[in-house]
Amino acid sequence: MSQGKKGFVYLVGAGPGRADLITVRGAELLKTADCIICDKLANPALLKLARANAEIIHVPKRIGGGSFTQEEINNLLIEKASSGQTVVRLKGGDPCIFGRGAEEVALLAEAGIDFEIVPGVTAAIAAAEYAGIMLTDRRYSSQVVFITGHEAEGKKDTNIDWHLLAKFPGTIVFYMAMGNLDFIVEQLIKNGMEDDTPAAVIADATLPTQRAVRTSLRQLSNKCKHEKIEPPAIVIVGAAADDTKLSWFMKKPLFGRSIVVTRDRCGNADFAAKIIQHAGNPIQFPAIKLKPLTGSNQFLQTLVKLAEYDWIIFTSANGVSIFFDCLQSLKKDARVFGPAKIAAIGRETAAKLDEFGINADFVPTAFTSKELGKQLIGFANLKGKKILLLRSQLASNELGELLEQAGAQLDDVAVYTAVTEKSESSRLKEKIADSKIDWLTFASPSSAKGFFAQIPGDLVNSSNVKVASIGPVTSEQLKNLGVRVDVTAREHTTDGLLAAIEGTYE
Ligand code: SAH
Repeated sequence: MSQGKKGFVYLVGAGPGRADLITVRGAELLKTADCIICDKLANPALLKLARANAEIIHVPKRIGGGSFTQEEINNLLIEKASSGQTVVRLKGGDPCIFGRGAEEVALLAEAGIDFEIVPGVTAAIAAAEYAGIMLTDRRYSSQVVFITGHEAEGKKDTNIDWHLLAKFPGTIVFYMAMGNLDFIVEQLIKNGMEDDTPAAVIADATLPTQRAVRTSLRQLSNKCKHEKIEPPAIVIVGAAADDTKLSWFMKKPLFGRSIVVTRDRCGNADFAAKIIQHAGNPIQFPAIKLKPLTGSNQFLQTLVKLAEYDWIIFTSANGVSIFFDCLQSLKKDARVFGPAKIAAIGRETAAKLDEFGINADFVPTAFTSKELGKQLIGFANLKGKKILLLRSQLASNELGELLEQAGAQLDDVAVYTAVTEKSESSRLKEKIADSKIDWLTFASPSSAKGFFAQIPGDLVNSSNVKVASIGPVTSEQLKNLGVRVDVTAREHTTDGLLAAIEGTYE
């Protein structure tokens, strides 16, 4: 037992599904916890916020036993907190709306363990809003009730007064109701509710896998069975469920589309986050690994004379990140550039420079190295000027040749290279063959090479999967690999790539 430090338990609501629907407070606490005790319904992506040495305990709890009983979870909370740890008890939705949060709080209070409750967006609200159902639209409903459908399970001692509920003049929201849907519908109708009362079921709310059934109370159970709707799901009954015009999430062009991301792990994480914001379903297949070359003699010798250059050019956000990682490790900062002017190939590279306090002096209007060269020559007189390219070892010569033709004295120094990363290919091959993937995306020629070293081009060409490329150089590489390219982004950024994919659904 650690002496002195007093344990503390934070009961944190993880939000309803989508990771970024957690509260700011909840996310901050995840970053500092010693121990995270995590429910099945909390999005596992949230655990990436945890400290590297935090202890993470998954406690999927099943009705009637299973892996962890509530008692075992309770004991775990007490044990961890009593040993002086800061514990985050991460629970799906709101920590105290159903899911036995109330019992956990009572237990902590009784044991004299300090605690804080961090509310979360509960599934009822999220499911309704992501389905475009306004629970308290004053035209239909000025009251709303949250009920557990699990309680209803034909129990003799149920607390649910079906007679009262069937007459409730507002919106009724059931949690945990899928196993009991027939019974619930039967009770409501038997107790006097009109069988054509509007009803909805929303499963996997807020996720790219969200599904919604909108129908009448009478049809609800059959329609859910027919459409094979699985828990977790929220059931909404009442006039508010009638209006289908406000549906917005499931109407997004990328909603539910499975989109394979093939950049390096770090680039993939950023790109996947953008796909989720567009309601798509990112599938990770890191096809390359970036290897910094900032330890090379050439790089280190260049680093001490950066201020001698007239222009320093970055041609990727990765190059900027790796360059500044190296500066940081040497306890240096952006002052190394001295008076040198800085050019960035495009918006993403400029944005990355901005993170390190550098406002790029030049960004072309089209984001290819050829355009960068052509436009920079038009922007500044480069004759006799000293120019440094800080970029990938794999970049083409085209930019350098253009700049030299304009009379520049050029140094081309590699900051990093990309090597193929082996990813789990057999499952992806199956998914491609089974038409379970909508898009493959390529943000660089090296990802294209790395990917097709592991997945046969013929498989892709003969499937329904579409291929999206970030720009002409990557498309050229794909064509050289014998792969059909369906769209090439007009703006050569990951946002441009997503816009190009969205454009195909207009
Ligand atoms: N504390 C949670 C509820 C836990 S009870 C909260 O505040 O949301 C578990 C029930 O929540 C599930 O049976 C289901 O009815 C509902 N639920 C949780 N996540 C859901 C989701 N993403 N979509 C639909 N329903 C969900």
